[in-house]
Amino acid sequence: MSKYWSDIVSRLTPYTPGEQPKDKILLKLNTNENPYSPSSEVLDAIKLSTKASLRLYPDPESINLKEALANYHNLSKANIFIGNGSDEILAFIFQALLNKEAPVLFPDITYSFYPAYCSLYDIKYKRIPLDKKLNINLEDYLINNGGIIFPNPNAPTGIPKSVVDIENLLQLNQESVVVIDEAYVDFGTESAVKLINQYKNLVITQSFSKSRSLAGIRLGCAFANEDLIEALNRIKNSFNSYPIDRLAQVAGVKAIQDENYFNLTRIKIIEARKFLEKELLLIDFEVLSSGANFIFTRHKSKDAIIIFNKLREAGVLVRHFNEPERISQFLRITIGTMEDMQKLISILKAVL
Ligand SMILES: *Cc1c(COP(=O)(O)O)cnc(C)c1O
Repeated sequence: MSKYWSDIVSRLTPYTPGEQPKDKILLKLNTNENPYSPSSEVLDAIKLSTKASLRLYPDPESINLKEALANYHNLSKANIFIGNGSDEILAFIFQALLNKEAPVLFPDITYSFYPAYCSLYDIKYKRIPLDKKLNINLEDYLINNGGIIFPNPNAPTGIPKSVVDIENLLQLNQESVVVIDEAYVDFGTESAVKLINQYKNLVITQSFSKSRSLAGIRLGCAFANEDLIEALNRIKNSFNSYPIDRLAQVAGVKAIQDENYFNLTRIKIIEARKFLEKELLLIDFEVLSSGANFIFTRHKSKDAIIIFNKLREAGVLVRHFNEPERISQFLRITIGTMEDMQKLISILKAVL
């Protein structure tokens, strides 16, 4: 605290990202990065763009990337917004579309950036408890609200909702914006993008960080009705006209176009997840059903923090959340390559 700080800074509770260790780690399974390299087409495009034109500002609208995404999702460019990571887009969404009189609703156990944005923009919110099995029950959201947001699949549980359930919510909740954070959707969860043209209050965010192996380039996108995209553009252009640099724009285009590599890698990750689930069950873990590139799991008798620390000593980094109490016995484990998962299982067997 300092007398030079503004009041808002003193009141903030910032998000704490998973550790990016400096020392050598055997297996880094704590921040849901992709174990595979970006596509070689992406890397080549970045190399070819590393030239004198970097002296020029990038295209403020990222038109080429919007075009690639519009083709891919069968949408119009006017339905697309590009941001410096989907986190930046989420920040804009909270400011532009969720800052209302009534509280914004999100699950009590979910992505912890949502309450951080509420504290940044002074937005009222209400946490809706997950049910006993840690599922989101969308009927609980049919109350007075200034907007609804949740990840699909949810984080850190990994549990997906069906598009039928989401459409049902949209039909019953038309007076406020509904945001579906699809950061992990490509790992076996059905996307709600097909509903964009039908529901004027639907916003979907996606990320290049997980399924497109580009966490290091900071790129995300949102899909919505033109009106809502216009609101996001107004915020963006009052903040930073050039959030997406030249290298990120070409990388994004190639990452969308190289569909073969995208499918190959995400299918490998889904297979490695199935393998890990099966192996964990054999050594007395309970595993929540996951539609993501991570699993949320707890051992039937051994303490989560003890397992976490023993893994850490063995050079394996996973994620543990102290709060809330209800999930303090769970570990979130990022899915790596099949080889990574085999290594993890053999280390787990040794430490248990
Ligand atoms: C990783 C993640 C994001 C942010 O992704 P970036 O595009 O890297 O900013 C958003 N939402 C959830 C639920 C995430 O896990």
